[in-house]
Amino acid sequence: MVAVCDVKRPKLELPDQRKKLLLHSCCAPCSGEVMEALLASGIDYSIYFYNPNIHPVKEYEIRKQENIRFAEQHGIEFIDADYDLDNWFARVKGLEWEPERGERCTSCFDMRFERTALYAHEHGFDCISSSLGISRWKDMNQINGCGERAAARYPELIYWTYNWRKGGGSARMIEISKREEFYQQEYCGCVYSLRDTNRHRQSQGRERIEIGVKFYSNNPDQK
Ligand code: SF4
Repeated sequence: MVAVCDVKRPKLELPDQRKKLLLHSCCAPCSGEVMEALLASGIDYSIYFYNPNIHPVKEYEIRKQENIRFAEQHGIEFIDADYDLDNWFARVKGLEWEPERGERCTSCFDMRFERTALYAHEHGFDCISSSLGISRWKDMNQINGCGERAAARYPELIYWTYNWRKGGGSARMIEISKREEFYQQEYCGCVYSLRDTNRHRQSQGRERIEIGVKFYSNNPDQK
């Protein structure tokens, strides 16, 4: 286990005197700060990686392996859930042209959180949350609504709506990503977000996204 970085963070406590958190993680950059903040506060948690939205499989594997590497460094249990792509496509059918933060994303979060809640229910966790909300590209209210809906399926479970961005969380997320030289994904995850991000880039005369090439750098001379 490596030391948690020496920064000032608020002391966190699980809400409602809960004891054990299952943290849905979308990727290493988003969960790095969340994981270290939980460790610094002595909160008992495991990582649940369930992201069948991520396309293509090469991108999925890179994001997952980065997250495993970081969890192992910190001695945190990493639960590697299914990559049930067919179910994901079935879930978002008809929503292919929705913009980001629209209805497709609600279905995508619902699916991921429903599985997280089920696993929590079956394995003795009494609280769930997600690293998804730390990203400034995401709508916290949308994520929290999906999380609360999923947790409400089980009487013993709650969704922790903590805002991971506050108290310097957003800045530490970038610091940790650079320190760890994490893989830097350039789109949200699904094939539709890849399509739309590439369209936007091309409209600005930029190159299309190349999977697997961009990493955060610890070198201050590089961005
Ligand atoms: S844009 Fe992101 S959150 Fe929305 S459906 Fe695609 S992967 Fe899921």
